[in-house]
Parts: sequence; C-alpha cells; structure tokens
Amino acid sequence: MPELPEVETIRRALEKPLEGRRIVSAELRLPRMLLGFPAADLPKKLKGQRLRAVVRRGKYLILELDKDSLVIHLGMTGQLTYAAPDAPVDPRFRRTVTGMQKPYGAHPVDKHTHLLLRLDGGGKLMFRDPRTFGKILLVPGKSWIDHPRLGKLGPEPLTMKPAARAQDIPATSTRPVKALLLDQEFLAGVGNIYADEALFHAGIHPKRLVKSLKESEKTALLEAVKVVLRKGIKYQGTTFSDYRKPDGTSGTNFERLMVYGRGGKPCRTCGTVLHKTVVAQRGTVFCPLCQPLKKK
Ligand SMILES: [Zn+2]
Repeated sequence: MPELPEVETIRRALEKPLEGRRIVSAELRLPRMLLGFPAADLPKKLKGQRLRAVVRRGKYLILELDKDSLVIHLGMTGQLTYAAPDAPVDPRFRRTVTGMQKPYGAHPVDKHTHLLLRLDGGGKLMFRDPRTFGKILLVPGKSWIDHPRLGKLGPEPLTMKPAARAQDIPATSTRPVKALLLDQEFLAGVGNIYADEALFHAGIHPKRLVKSLKESEKTALLEAVKVVLRKGIKYQGTTFSDYRKPDGTSGTNFERLMVYGRGGKPCRTCGTVLHKTVVAQRGTVFCPLCQPLKKK
C-alpha cells in the first residue's frame, strides 16, 4: 500500500507536468470510486478547470483546481500515471500475474483505468487501481482541509518537531507502539512499511506498550520516523507489488529496507534471523536482538 513517501514521490513527479494545465475532458469509468459527488456530473464539473496545485496530506493526494479539489487515495493498489503528449502507448505495458509491469512508455487505458483526465496540450492523467480500494473525492474549493476524512489527520511527520510531538504520546496507553505509529490521527502517512522500519531504526520492539516508553525513546522513535520517510522519498518509494511512479517505473527503496518484507532473512546490522509476527492485525518484522522486548 502506498504510504507517505510513495504519495510524495508521485506528487513531486506530477507537479511540473500538471500545474497550470486545463482539463479538456474527464472520464470516470468506475462510478463507485467517486464519493460525495454524483458520478454522472463529474465530467461536466471538471471540464475547463485548470490544475492549480498538486498537494499531499498524509497518504492523500489533492489536485487543487480553479473551483474544486479532486482528492485521491490510492488504497492498496492505486497508480496515478501521467502520459506526456508524445509518450508512445506501449501495448506490452501490462499488468502480469505477479503485478509487475513493463516500465516503458505510457500505460494503455485498460479495464483497471478508472479515471482519465485529458489535458490541454495532449497529456493524460490516469488513475488505475486493480483492486479498487482507492477513493476519489470531489470537494468545493480547498475544503479538503476540513473534510471528515482529512480534517482529523494527525500532523505531517516530515515537518513535526519530534521532541514536541513526543509530549503528546499518551503516558498510560496500553496499545503496542506499532499501533500508535499506524494511527493516522497520531501521525499522517505512516503505514506498515515505514512503521516497521522506524521501530528498527529506533531499536524498539513493535510490541512494546506505549506506556513503557521512556521520554528519550519516544523522541528517538519520532526522529526515526522522519529518517525512514526521508529515505523512502530519496529512493522514490518502495515498490514490492503495485506502487508505481507516474512514469510507470518502480521506486528503489524496497531493496534498501532493513526489516519490512525480510522476515526469516538475516538482520543487516547483527546477522540475527529477523522474526515475523502480527501486531495490530498487521504482519510485522523485527530483529529480536536489535529490538529487545525486555530491557537487558
Ligand atoms: Zn539485528
């Protein structure tokens, strides 16, 4: 599932080609993906509006238009690809059984393409989502900020002050610390990949209870969140199944992960076999030596 670094990578890649462009036509091919606005009216509503800004909030991508905002959540398998006017459509650029795609040219419109925006000058923005857990919202003006789904999001981790945010961690909470990191009302944009990576980076066992954390550990953990998110952005996101950059290519953070997806493999720091467990209903990988549950 795309998390903050993946969505930020997409935002950065779309910013330049999209900003200032006018929507010539919009085609919503799977009406149920649109929430809060009648699907049949969407093409008329979008036509003629200019794309003013491409914004990210947590795992949401927001296309701010002249009069409205189009809010996109990529769900599990969403892909937002941009085809430049001169990009050749590559018929080999198809989803295979493994979910991998050939990364050349523009993706042809297929049965998984649910929204298609044609822009002045000939470019195309396509939202593709094989598993259709993604969501599209249309809201007036910049009201996405207060939308029920976005208004309650916690702070943006990249701009938070870890020592200050650490003060907001509930002192008596009996939740495992990983559940706190996954809570979008605590921090916006952290999901399973970067929660596991941050816990490893901070040397904290994912099942430690929040109330057991020392003040220094809380700050270190939030610092670690920033480190692993920045690394994810630097390598343009983690591709292990469906996540793609807007040009259709993969991010390269996957091979750089310390624990996520590496259960049973040796720890890159100490060589101990990484354990796999379940925390907060999510598959979780950690190093039993680098992230001890009990203090020595
Ligand atoms: Zn280790």
